[in-house]
Amino acid sequence: MGYHVRIDQDLCMSSGKCVADAPGVFRFDGDELAETVPDPEVLDDERLLAIARNCPGRAIALLDADGNEVAY
Ligand code: SF4
Repeated sequence: MGYHVRIDQDLCMSSGKCVADAPGVFRFDGDELAETVPDPEVLDDERLLAIARNCPGRAIALLDADGNEVAY
């Protein structure tokens, strides 16, 4: 389906986990806070869920096609 990714930079702890796991979706900005790349690669939902669950700051929200936040 392809969840949309939203990052709350106030919660990002700059661990780099998401950037290491999926550099086609996540990158660091100039302040070493995660952001999405401009034209992100489409990852399958299970992989995105795993990345979001592994974020130590719980900074990654996943939105479904209707814009609703996915619980994980
Ligand atoms: S995994 Fe979470 S805390 Fe780590 S860089 Fe990504 S958004 Fe930030």
